[in-house]
Parts: sequence; structure tokens; C-alpha cells
Amino acid sequence: MPRRAAPAPPPHDLDPARARAFGHRLRAWFRRHGRDLPWRRTRDPYRILVSELMLQQTQVVRVVDYYARFLDRFPTLRHVAEARPDEVTDAWAGLGYYARARNLHALARHVTADGGPGAIPADPAALRALPGVGAYTAGAVASFAYERRAALVDTNVARVLQRAFAPELDPKRPRDLTRLWRMAEALVPRTGAAAWTQNQALMELGALVCTARVARCGACPVRGVCATYARGAAGGAPLPVERRAAPRARAPRPR
Ligand code: SF4
Repeated sequence: MPRRAAPAPPPHDLDPARARAFGHRLRAWFRRHGRDLPWRRTRDPYRILVSELMLQQTQVVRVVDYYARFLDRFPTLRHVAEARPDEVTDAWAGLGYYARARNLHALARHVTADGGPGAIPADPAALRALPGVGAYTAGAVASFAYERRAALVDTNVARVLQRAFAPELDPKRPRDLTRLWRMAEALVPRTGAAAWTQNQALMELGALVCTARVARCGACPVRGVCATYARGAAGGAPLPVERRAAPRARAPRPR
């Protein structure tokens, strides 16, 4: 007898007023506290793709230098396509996880094949068809390069959404992760520019405030609408909470 496919997980119910307040507070916080990182100053899809690949499994502070050096050596996707694979992996040396460099090379050859213009697509589904591009990277390139209303969920974003809206979910469970993706999609603001800011802000909050190690709820802009914070205030299971404010960082260009 054929096996039945598992039923799709239901979308998570988000109270619209709470979702709006979450987005407004988060974006306002990011405009003041988000770090000024090189890939936040560009809308060049190639440069954003390189940053996103480098940021997979590597910390921001390490990526900054490698990013600048790599782009000096390969200023465009076409430069990557015309290089030998080992030249690209050599330029990646020190970052580790060389599959990322090999995927970038394969992607560059793919989009420049047959003398094409070498344009990286804007549509998340088209992006996902490229070598080495998963759902997160597709959402990131669509949002950060093209200001598409695209959702993205990495480990930081999954943790923030789970703590803020659905403490009962476990992002390590595929079914729960799917629900967090649905939640992220429902939270995408109406304009692409606001989506750019909100996606950056979600990642920044997960990196600086609502981290895996500690939840700095005292410095968190969304604590007033956070389910986990409310649980703690009501005597629920405590989080590793730190009340000291997160370090201030330079603001990105206003949006
Ligand atoms: S209030 Fe605390 S648990 Fe909630 S999102 Fe902010 S840092 Fe995370």
C-alpha cells in the first residue's frame, strides 16, 4: 500500500496587531543599532551572494576581511566564471567549507553559460535552482539585492521567531522549522524596502541580542510582544537572560 504523505504543518496563527508591533519595533531598533557592514551598503546581487555564502558557518568579524580581499580578486561574477576552480578556492583559503567556493564557481559558470549576461535572478524560485543556493540564500539575495518581499530563516531568525511567537516549537524539528518559515513569510512587510530592513533586523537581533547563548531581554526592542519574555515574567521556564544592554554599533544608512 502506498505510504501517505505526512500532512503539511498548519500555518502559525499570528495576531496581526502583535505582528505589526513586532515589525515596527524591530525595524526602528535596527535603524539605530544595526551594524554598518560592507554588504549592507550594496545592492549588487553578486556581492550580496558572496557575503551570504561566506557568512554560512563563518562569523561576521572574520568575513569582513575575506570579503574585501575576495572582491578585489574577483570583482564580478564573470571574473569568477572565467577563473579555474582552484583559483576560486585559493582565494577562499582560510574561510574553510570550500564547497561554498566550488558552488560559487559552478553558479558563475551556470549563469554566464552561452555568453549570457551573467545576471543573478531576482525571483527566489529561480535563485533556488542555482548550484548551492538553498531557501535561506535565495530569500537573502532576493531581499537584500532586489528588495523583493521575500522571507528568510537562518538559525538566528528561527530562534528569534520561536522565542518571540512560539516557544513551544523546536527549530531543530523539520515540521516546526516549516512553521517558522510560514511565520516569517506572514511577517514580511508590505514594501520591499521595509522587508530589507526587517530581514536584516531579524538577523541582527539574533546575532546581538537574542543569541543562542543568552537572551538580552533587557536590551530587546520586542520584549513587549515576546511570548518567551511574557512567560518568564509570569514565572515560566527561565531563559539565560542577561539584563545588560547589548553593545551599541554604528547605524547602517537610513532607510
Ligand atoms: S525579549 Fe528576550 S527572548 Fe524575547 S526576542 Fe527579545 S531577547 Fe529574545
